[in-house]
This record gives sequence, C-alpha cells and structure tokens, in this order.
Amino acid sequence: MGYGKNIYYKAIGVLEERRALAEQAAAQRLAQFYELCPRGREIREEMAQNSANAAKTVIHGGDVRGELEKLKAHGAALREEFSQLLSSHGFSQEELSPQYTCPLCKDTGVADGKTCSCFKELQRRLAYEKLSLEVPLSECTFENFSLDYYKEDQQAYRQMSGIFQACREYAARFRKDSPSLLLKGGTGLGKTHLSLAIAGRALEKGYGVIYGAAQAFAVSLEKERFERTDSDQDEDTQAQLISCDLLILDDLGMEFPSAYVNASLYYILDTRILTKRPTIISTNLSLPELEKRYGERLVSRLSGHYGQMVFQGSDIRNQKRQARKSWKASQEPLPKK
Ligand SMILES: [Zn+2]
Repeated sequence: MGYGKNIYYKAIGVLEERRALAEQAAAQRLAQFYELCPRGREIREEMAQNSANAAKTVIHGGDVRGELEKLKAHGAALREEFSQLLSSHGFSQEELSPQYTCPLCKDTGVADGKTCSCFKELQRRLAYEKLSLEVPLSECTFENFSLDYYKEDQQAYRQMSGIFQACREYAARFRKDSPSLLLKGGTGLGKTHLSLAIAGRALEKGYGVIYGAAQAFAVSLEKERFERTDSDQDEDTQAQLISCDLLILDDLGMEFPSAYVNASLYYILDTRILTKRPTIISTNLSLPELEKRYGERLVSRLSGHYGQMVFQGSDIRNQKRQARKSWKASQEPLPKK
C-alpha cells in the first residue's frame, strides 16, 4: 500500500490522460492525412474489405488457396500504395499510430500481467511532489545542512557531526524495516531539516513517506472522529499513518492535548512497532515530559524501540537572523561625521 489510495488513483488518472492524448494525436494526424489525400481513406476501406473477403473465402471453400493468394497480393499492393501516399504527403507511419509515453504497457500501467515500472515510477514522483508542496523538501537536504552553526561549542559540534553522519547513513541504508528514531532537543537545532533530508532520500528510493507536524495529524484525527462519511474518497488518516513505509512525526508535544489523540497516537505508534515499520519522531520534550503528557506506556515503547539522538547547540534560526542583521548593517553607508 506504500503511498496510499490518493496517490494510486491520481497515478491512474495520469495514465488515462497520457493514453487519451496519444490516441487523440494519432487520430488527428490521420484525419489531416485523409483531408489532404482522400485516396488514403479509400485505401484503408479497401484494406478492411480485403480482409473481410479473405474470411469469406475461407468459409465458402472452392479454390481457397488461389483466392487467398490473390487477396494477399492485393493487400500488399494496397499497403504499398498507402505508404507511398503517406510519404509523398509528408507523413510517417509512426505518427499515425499512438505514441505512448511507455511503449511497454501502452500507458495502461500493466505489462505482461504485472504492474509496469512506469506506474511505480509515476506513483513515486507524485508522492514526492505532494510532499514537496507541503514541506520545503528541496531546501532541507544533507547537502545543504551546515555544521558551521554548531562550531562555537566544541561538545555540540562533535555531537552534531555524529548525528549528521548517523542520519546520512540511516537514509542511505533505509529499508522497510529500518529502526525507528527519536530526535530530541530544543527548537532550531536541525531536527526538522535532517528528518526531511531522510524523507527525501527514502522517497527517491521509492518508499511511501508521510511527513507532518503532530499538530496537523491531531487535527485530522479529531476531525475524522466525527466525520466518518466520505471514507471511500479518502483513506483515513489513522490507516495511512499506520501503513506508510516511513512515518515522520514532527514536533511531538506541540499539538493540542486530547485524550482521543493520545490514545490514537499510542495505537498508531504501537502498531508500527509491532509490524516493524520505521517511524521518526522529533520533539522538544524530554522523556519525563513526554511521560507526563502521554503516559508511561507510550514512553516505555519509545525508549525500548527507538534509537535516540540528542540534538545540541544554539538555535540556528536565531543565528541566521543575527547573521542577516550584521550583514545588512555592514552594507549600510557609514554615518557622516
Ligand atoms: Zn508502462
């Protein structure tokens, strides 16, 4: 199920559109040709008639072989005439037949009774695009993660270099049963950046990733609790959060407290642990704070099954703001005496 029903149906829609466009274009070209060369249409009709005659000959009997030979020769002559007319009017045989994006499956998504690779690729791309629309995926990569912001504090620098390496390796080796991670630490220390970098890599590899702030998931879960009507249209949030290949839950603890959401969250995270699906949680809260909020049961599941990373340093967003300020100041003309 990887990407969820929405992506699946969207991909089917894209294939249908590709197929229709290719067939339309071919039909249009053929119509253009017939307009320039009415004899072309006649030949096609004669060809059809010729095939029908061949079938009749077989049924009626008599000198079947001789008749068929004649019809075959006539067919060949018609084909030859047709192709000469085509080229003399500047058309090619290829443009009269639909030019499918994927010749393997003719844009049906199925080749040799199996899901075509183009359909898988399409779903992967759609999932990536959807996530990119929602979050700044291209701005948060391993390549543009800078350790310079941690340089002031040697201890923080060492710690963050280690975390950066570990996240990069985690992403490179990501699989459906990779371990889960708990990223802890204050705001603006790069937790979101690194989890998005992992999300990007996992998507590139074709895994179904769901990324979101705990707050946003909490709102969807609460909403669906009361509006369970259009379940056909949209797969519900809980099912998606449970079944995706990688779930990234950002800023756990910042959502509005609710007993229902807490219970739902426990169910989702516990099910993912039981089914060996990786989850990455980032939070500003410490384990005791998490325990106070979500209960001992959840925290003991997290401590038992999640690899923990403690982010250190001083708020990067603040540092960037400071840097911009001092850069601006340096650009301003010196005050006159
Ligand atoms: Zn295909």
